[in-house]
Amino acid sequence: MYDLTQLGENTYCFNCFSNVGIYKLNEKDVCLIDSGDDKSSGKRLMRTLDEKGWNVKAIVNTHSHTDHIFNNQSLIEKYGCKVYANSNDIAFMNDSFLNPAFVCASNPPKEMLTRYYVHQPHYGENLDKADLPLEYIPLPGHTGYMIGIKTPDDVFFVGDCVVDPITFRKTKIIYIYDIAGFLNSIDKALNVNAKIYVPAHSTPTEDFRPIAEANKNTVNEVAEIVWEECKTPLSPEELTKAVADRLGYKMGYSQYMTVQSTLKSYLTYLQQQGKAQTYVENNRIYWKSIV
Ligand SMILES: [Zn+2]
Repeated sequence: MYDLTQLGENTYCFNCFSNVGIYKLNEKDVCLIDSGDDKSSGKRLMRTLDEKGWNVKAIVNTHSHTDHIFNNQSLIEKYGCKVYANSNDIAFMNDSFLNPAFVCASNPPKEMLTRYYVHQPHYGENLDKADLPLEYIPLPGHTGYMIGIKTPDDVFFVGDCVVDPITFRKTKIIYIYDIAGFLNSIDKALNVNAKIYVPAHSTPTEDFRPIAEANKNTVNEVAEIVWEECKTPLSPEELTKAVADRLGYKMGYSQYMTVQSTLKSYLTYLQQQGKAQTYVENNRIYWKSIV
């Protein structure tokens, strides 16, 4: 944790809960890929940058989840750097409350206003304004517009396109907005010509296929669980309880909202596959598997 690994001639990874990519633009200037998940990762990152004598010229974010943009504002204050992202994520960066509001689909209650969901708002610019030698590859699924970022050293920072497969196998549910997109983006990432892949929440690897396949297997397993549970028609709330009980979860409010939001995305995925349908009866929404 908090150490710096060189992955290519000019490419480094600062290891923390949400890995930060560092690409050296010249002897002094670097650009960052994401900015870490909390204050301590930010402090340790800045100390490492100082030790190396590096100046942050820009940050490019894979997506605008709080654990990837948490230190954007403090880095802007220290280095006067620019922040680049796609236009959808810029809107989330500008507004502290869009992330929790999006997960809740409502004005978020105080239980959602934690450091996991709320960040300091800041200004970002569109990727097409970034004059950086990086390649931006759309990998939608985890969020609607997430991107992967490849450096000229063929190091590919894939954000949350995949997560650590061992953790995923245990927890089963990570936040995913679009299940079909998530599966497609894993295949897309596999076809990118990269020497090293860097998932945000796992160790850099030269062999992406096992982690890719393990992530796809877990997603398909959860889709199967949702399909099985909905053989008896269930409301989204009933489904959330059924799946969480089955997986042995003891959820707090914010985890409940994330899990429910993701399970609803699984229901949409099953509907897209012709494996589930929804209807409203007696003022309740039901989902039913097509057997
Ligand atoms: Zn994320």
